[in-house]
Amino acid sequence: MATVAVPKFHKNFINGEWVEARSGRSFEDRNPANFSELVGIFPASTQQDVNDAVDAAKWAFAKWRLMPAPRRAEILYRAAEILVKRKEDLARDMTREMGKPLSETRGDVQEAIDMTYYMAGEGRRLFGQTVPSELPNKSAMSVRDPLGVVGLITPWNFPMAIPSWKIMPALICGNTVVIKPAEDTPLSTHNLVQILIEAGLPVGVVNVVYGMGPESGAPLVAHEDVAAVSFTGSTETGRFVSQACAPSFKPCHLEMGGKNIIIVMDDANLELAIEGAVWGGFGTSGQRCTAASRVAVHKKVYREFLDRFAQRVRSLRIGDGLDPETEIGPLINETQLQTVMKYVEIGKSELARLVVGGHRAESGNLAKGWFHEPTIFADVHPAMRIAQEEIFGPVVALLPFDSFDEALDIANQVKYGLSASIYTRDVNQAYRAMRDLETGIVYVNAPTIGAEIQLPFGGTKNTGNGATARLERPPSTSTPNGRRSISTTQTACSVRRSIPPITADRKNRFVGLDVFFCFRDL
Ligand code: ADP
Repeated sequence: MATVAVPKFHKNFINGEWVEARSGRSFEDRNPANFSELVGIFPASTQQDVNDAVDAAKWAFAKWRLMPAPRRAEILYRAAEILVKRKEDLARDMTREMGKPLSETRGDVQEAIDMTYYMAGEGRRLFGQTVPSELPNKSAMSVRDPLGVVGLITPWNFPMAIPSWKIMPALICGNTVVIKPAEDTPLSTHNLVQILIEAGLPVGVVNVVYGMGPESGAPLVAHEDVAAVSFTGSTETGRFVSQACAPSFKPCHLEMGGKNIIIVMDDANLELAIEGAVWGGFGTSGQRCTAASRVAVHKKVYREFLDRFAQRVRSLRIGDGLDPETEIGPLINETQLQTVMKYVEIGKSELARLVVGGHRAESGNLAKGWFHEPTIFADVHPAMRIAQEEIFGPVVALLPFDSFDEALDIANQVKYGLSASIYTRDVNQAYRAMRDLETGIVYVNAPTIGAEIQLPFGGTKNTGNGATARLERPPSTSTPNGRRSISTTQTACSVRRSIPPITADRKNRFVGLDVFFCFRDL
């Protein structure tokens, strides 16, 4: 059960020192499962603090870029080793500030571990290309060069994994970093940076400023000495970040909203599909950019799927994430709870059929936190707002369909394009789905969640502008939207049918080389 810990006063980390915000102001980090518990107090930074941090990073860049990449890698490797040793404590801290169950926060820390080892390995693999020149006695090559100071803005739903996706690739390539983590989960970034310091990162190479988005994130994005920005968060803020980068042509990586779908065909293994829909829809209380907030089910199996899915979801245990019995934790804050409650009302007013949940969960100790019941709406029409808009909470819309083509239409009829999944035993349908779903990530017989760090992660349309944290190719040949990741399980591939060759989809967005298969034996 929840441990009572003394809240700590934290400081920004700038130029190798822990310093207060120049304004002297601060903000609170509270436990969403029990908002009377203060997890920590952090500085509310402003433009001046950001300027200090960028100055430090700029100064440090001059040396860091010249340190041989394998030496930079040794520091990352040491950081990964420390992360492994402290995994349990880091996961507990994260559950206290973010709310998701310990089983999930352990996974979040594990992603940081994996990414740190992975990028440490890249220190000996920062390949360029050599190409033949058309002239005699001339050689031609491309090499990787760091850009300079990179500004990183991160969200609260993966408080250590996402900062690590951004920090580690930037560092291994020789960039220096200023990170502004989400105001709801600053402690996990603090813990990650503390470990990088212990691993021996030189002064100024990583700097952290805590604070609110408009006051500390916006000046970071706009700073003229920030050479590139990587942002993960809402589409609205991402649009703002993109616009702020445009005047100076600053490279800007964006990973934003999603309205992801699971398609359940009539030949699907229903047990597998139901488990996928449960964890895809309700894992992290639906607060993942890859959450399956839509489940489209073939009419032939719709009734059975709905009954079994609803029964399974009713049995989910809501509670404090530190309790090992808990399956569904709280929402991150009151605003998010209000948003979810608003969408439940919208769903009802659109005459979708509320089958499970639909209320704030406030019995007993749940009243102390921002909990909401896992909620299912059935018979949802694809045009309804609950089927179109990102809710970012434990609300799943079930949509019936008649044919594979109709399912694809439903899937692609949204403005987002992050992740999609299909449950089928028909390998031809699986391949068509991989080809025609307009998302950055496609799963077969697995839920829309569960990215692995060595696969490209990113989306199309209003979701984003390319994959994050990947170094597979030298910059000169990479195309921002040219990568997708596809994961399948053996269930799909064991069916004997002819497999249509895949080389490119109709928009020429991916070629054979970019198709990754991850065979997981379930
Ligand atoms: P959410 O609504 O889920 O919190 P946001 O997009 O608001 O998503 O937040 C994601 C990250 O972007 C957070 O670190 C937040 O502080 C930051 N942020 C919010 N507004 C701005 C802004 N105007 N400029 C830069 N960063 C911002």
